[in-house]
Amino acid sequence: MNKHTSAQPQQNYDRPRMRMVDEQIIARGIRSPRVLEAMLKVHRHTFVGEALRTHAYQDRSLPIGEGQTISQPYMVAKMTELLDLKGHERVLEIGTGCGYQTAILACLCKRVYSIERIESLHELAKSNLRQGRYSNVMLRCGDGLLGWEDYAPFDAIIVTAGGFASDIWVEQLVADGALLLPEGLGKSHRLVRRQKLESGVLEEYFDDCTFVPLLSGVN
Ligand code: SAH
Repeated sequence: MNKHTSAQPQQNYDRPRMRMVDEQIIARGIRSPRVLEAMLKVHRHTFVGEALRTHAYQDRSLPIGEGQTISQPYMVAKMTELLDLKGHERVLEIGTGCGYQTAILACLCKRVYSIERIESLHELAKSNLRQGRYSNVMLRCGDGLLGWEDYAPFDAIIVTAGGFASDIWVEQLVADGALLLPEGLGKSHRLVRRQKLESGVLEEYFDDCTFVPLLSGVN
C-alpha cells in the first residue's frame, strides 16, 4: 500500500499494558505466571469504548455503558489467580459485561460459559470476543442467578457483580469445584471463595472491594 494513503497508525498499547502488569498486578502480589501472561496478552483497550481507550490500562474500573463497569485490572487478576486454573476446566462466569474477564479466563481454561443480564452488553461482549478470536467462549443473555443448567456441572463459577450467592450455583459445581464472588450488601463487598470438599465447604475471605450489584431478571 502507498504509505501516503495508508490509514492512521493504530496506537500501540503494549507498553502501557506491561506497566499495568508491573505496577498494579505484580507490585500487589499476584505471582501466578499463567495469570500474568494472560494479563499481558489480552488487549484490554479493545474492550472499552473508543473514547476511553487511552484510560484502559489505568488502575481503576471504567464505564462500559448501562451503568456497568469493566473491573479494575488488579481485581480481574486477583479473582483469576484465586481460581487457580490449570487449563482443563469448564468455568461459568456470571456478569459478562464487556467480556474482558471472559477473555482472560478463556486464555487459562478449556471453555468459558458466561451469562449477562443486559442485552446490549451481551451483544457488546459477543462482538469484542469475536474480534479477539476467542473461540472457547459461550455467551448467553439471561439471569445468571439461575446458573446454566444445560452445561452444568462446572469446575469453577466466578461472579463479577456484588451480592449474595445463589444456592443453584453450588448445585451446578463439580464435587471439588470452587465458587468465587464479591459478597456483601450495597457497595461493600468482600471476595469469598467457597470450595466444595468431601468433608464440607472450605470458605476463605480475601480483599474488600466494590462491584456493581448482582441483580435478578433480564434487562
Ligand atoms: N466481568 C465484567 C464485569 C462487568 S460488571 C467485565 O470484565 O466487563 C458486572 C456485570 O454483571 C454487569 O454487566 C451486570 O449487568 C451483570 N450482572 C448483574 N447481575 C447479573 C445476573 N443476575 N446475571 C447476569 N449478569 C448480571
